[in-house]
Amino acid sequence: MNIPAFPSIDITTETITNNKCERCTNSTCCTYVTQQIDVPRSKYSFEILLWQVSHRGVGVYKDEDGWFVIFDTPCSHLEVDGRCGIYEDRPAICRTHENDFCEYDAPAEDGFDLYFPDYPTLLAYCKNRFKKWSTGNPAPA
Ligand code: SF4
Ligand code: SF4
Repeated sequence: MNIPAFPSIDITTETITNNKCERCTNSTCCTYVTQQIDVPRSKYSFEILLWQVSHRGVGVYKDEDGWFVIFDTPCSHLEVDGRCGIYEDRPAICRTHENDFCEYDAPAEDGFDLYFPDYPTLLAYCKNRFKKWSTGNPAPA
């Protein structure tokens, strides 16, 4: 669920497609948040990302909309049965999230061009991308 901006759709047409959400017990869309970031180009930018993905539950991916940091952390309002505990007052982002093709249909990773769920995967990418990659004393660029 990439959410760089509020979608401009009618919230009355919100998420109920073929009662899919009623049948979805994992509610995967409620188990993470994402934040779009500037396209990383410099070694320093990747050093920052390496620090971020070193934390449990933090990853980085790139898809057709750009680069994102993803935090795998369930919403505090998600109930054990997969329902929203604040359904009537849930944020607009939740109200406008469409389920026409969502994690119920396929893992979000299937749509990623690049995916770095942890430090080793991103470090391998850095070493391949920057021929003279070395960790230590990165200069802001
Ligand atoms: S993952 Fe899809 S089907 Fe499941 S609750 Fe979220 S939007 Fe509904
Ligand atoms: S507020 Fe409700 S709908 Fe929104 S992420 Fe949390 S549990 Fe899901």
